[in-house]
Amino acid sequence: MSYDRTRSKIVCTIGPASKDRDILAGMIEAGMDVARLNLSHEDHSSARDTFDLIRSADDTIPILFDIQGPKIRIGEMKEEVELENGQEIVLTTKEIVGTKDKISISHEDLPRDVHPGDTIAINDGIVRLEVLSIEGEEVLTKVTHGGPVSSRKGVNIPGIMLSCRLPTEKDLEDLDLAAELEPDLIALSFVTDASDVLRVESIVKENGPKNVDIISKIEHALAIENYDEILKESHGVMIARGDLGIEAPIEDVPVLQRDLIRKANLWARPSIVATHMLESMTSERLPTRAEVSDVAHAIFDRADAVMLSAETATGHDPVGTVEMMERIIRKAEKRITAVDPVDMTSPNKMIVEVIGNLVYSTVSLLPDKIDGIVTATRTGFTARWISKFRPPTDIFAVSRDPAVMRRMRLLWGVHPVRFEKDVGSVDDLVKEAVQALHKAELVDPDMDVVFTSGIRHIPHRTNILGIFHVRDLLE
Ligand code: PEP
Repeated sequence: MSYDRTRSKIVCTIGPASKDRDILAGMIEAGMDVARLNLSHEDHSSARDTFDLIRSADDTIPILFDIQGPKIRIGEMKEEVELENGQEIVLTTKEIVGTKDKISISHEDLPRDVHPGDTIAINDGIVRLEVLSIEGEEVLTKVTHGGPVSSRKGVNIPGIMLSCRLPTEKDLEDLDLAAELEPDLIALSFVTDASDVLRVESIVKENGPKNVDIISKIEHALAIENYDEILKESHGVMIARGDLGIEAPIEDVPVLQRDLIRKANLWARPSIVATHMLESMTSERLPTRAEVSDVAHAIFDRADAVMLSAETATGHDPVGTVEMMERIIRKAEKRITAVDPVDMTSPNKMIVEVIGNLVYSTVSLLPDKIDGIVTATRTGFTARWISKFRPPTDIFAVSRDPAVMRRMRLLWGVHPVRFEKDVGSVDDLVKEAVQALHKAELVDPDMDVVFTSGIRHIPHRTNILGIFHVRDLLE
């Protein structure tokens, strides 16, 4: 008996192509675990409607609000222009209609934030400019990599700490919406250091949402430098390869991906690999071989989740794309190589981590006897530290709190199970939890389960580990 869902999770961006009850139901059936709302592309009224639609389709699906952060854009252009290598062009903070010679830019402090020699990238990094000089509100640049530029294209200034930081005015408005709607996860764009995360966290603590995990998007060159301190303050990370591939040399992205996942994994922080995973399925029936391989390699790298963006937000077949991703994951995760659990243990060696390590060793040493790991968890903390070791069997996380259950769906291998009873003793807890799993046909009476939990009423104090024969616990 075993739960037949992939262990690696799928995050899907919801947009015009998927804001439909039947399509959402199809995506959930196909393997969607987390629904992402990209607040860069949603006004509050449509975000509210989409939020309600997802909750009404399935209230066990966690909803992730992706907050835009200090994203810079160029202003309106008279028409699309093709910038030529070597030509000069002025960037101005004044609102003008842009031409081949002068473009307006949304970041007011640009003339103070950049210096001669700095690089400014436009349009997904296709066009690159070198700053020559600064005069008042204008920055004179030379085109080093020419290409097309049209209205509202994104701008990156790699490696520069901009004076506009998280949260921007727009982010604050979006956080107010989050306080009203209570999404389960909030992803922060363009985090540069831990103070960005802490600033948002203190706003969230004060205003709500009450139960939310913060995911830092790693896409700024400074986030790579400050990764350790960001990880410490974040619940999880998203490797946002779209902007990361502009901020860092594009050829660095696969290596960065591997290193960022590995470190997140060491500290039991879930990681999401994002952007262009099955991009060609936005318009085609099948992905390219390279895309299939990319998804598989994110799984081999031990990411908790892989993400779909345009594929499910605006693509022609959101359900088919999720089905494809699920199929690739199913094959790839059979080949995740085991890592020596001692090697995977963080320098802190917390008790929960040692227990996670022992859980891994137990199920690895008894592959034919153990039918699952059962953890009773109040906050999802124990489940997260067990998941980190990527044990070769399902992790059933029983909880009484639907919000905790939703948040745990992002974690690799974790299958949340609702548990209604409030039991006092550990003996009763094991018995009731295993009976609930048996009733849901998730464990076999002739097998054993590994049980782990903390004692009651002390969060983050995982201190119990046992092996129980399922039939012994059934009445
Ligand atoms: C990215 O840059 O890869 C990303 C996921 O962020 P966004 O979709 O907000 O650009």
